[in-house]
Amino acid sequence: MGLCDANKNIIACNNNMRLTFHFSDKQGVNLSEIFEDEGVQQIAINDGQSVPIPTLLIERTEKIQVLGYFFKLENNLLMLGENGHITNEKLAETINFMTMELSSLMHELHQKNIQLNQANNRIQKLIDYDELTGLYNRRYQKERLKLEVSLADRHNIPLSVVMCDLDHFKKVNDTFGHDAGDKVLVCFAQLLKSQTRQEDSCIRFGGEEFVIIMPHVEQQEAVEVCERIRNILVTSNSLNNDYQISASFGVACYHRGMDTETILIHADRALYQAKDNGRNCVVPYLDKLTLEN
Ligand code: GH3
Ligand code: MG
Ligand code: MG
Repeated sequence: MGLCDANKNIIACNNNMRLTFHFSDKQGVNLSEIFEDEGVQQIAINDGQSVPIPTLLIERTEKIQVLGYFFKLENNLLMLGENGHITNEKLAETINFMTMELSSLMHELHQKNIQLNQANNRIQKLIDYDELTGLYNRRYQKERLKLEVSLADRHNIPLSVVMCDLDHFKKVNDTFGHDAGDKVLVCFAQLLKSQTRQEDSCIRFGGEEFVIIMPHVEQQEAVEVCERIRNILVTSNSLNNDYQISASFGVACYHRGMDTETILIHADRALYQAKDNGRNCVVPYLDKLTLEN
């Protein structure tokens, strides 16, 4: 805060202003010595008016900004301002510091986002996938089958659903141990993935039971895919010994108006029939199976 006479000489000021202006007790200094030329012109104000404080020149070497106003008080000028004093160096230093701080915050935010994405991916995996085999789980199957049934219904496209089950799997565990059993499950899952299309969904339905949802596939074509898988399985050697692993398959197809439960029931009935036929075979669901069971 400072008070000037009619000639713009500073006649009184407080400590803050003294420090800001670097002129300690140099009272009597004229405003033209400390303000930029055009700034001094602005200070010509009428009664009742106020004008913003212009940029100050200190010793004509550095500029500072004081935020505030000049007010006309009769023949005097009152300057009221907030010390926004900042030298170019200080400004550069502050900007530099703030930029560094901002960049460090951005980096931290980026890291947090990466961690969040990783956590979300992990959660999504836990929600949709089976941990052992990496195939979809039963929760996902329900959702996906509903969607595929809806698409098949709306666009009148074929849809096949396969249910398959490893034969006498209990014996594998009993003979070679649970870890060997797990290895067979993982190998079978890989076989299913490798022999189906990207748009097919391979699901671990539970235990040693699997489901394959095949959109755009007629029942006969699905039977052929299952035959191929069955053949590869019996000739493969996932346990690295002579023990032959086999699986049974039931194949159902969607008919308009059918619900998701029914198509699964049909596939399960056909699988049951495959087991009944002596296992290691593929059975398509036919209407007569409904009558028999
Ligand atoms: P079937 O030909 O009639 O299907 O006979 P099965 O022995 O395969 O059928 P059963 O239902 O009697 O036995 C299934 C076995 O699968 C028993 C269970 O311990 C085993 N099993 C289920 N889940 C897992 C798993 O995650 N890992 C291993 N190693 N075994 C599993
Ligand atoms: Mg089984
Ligand atoms: Mg089973």
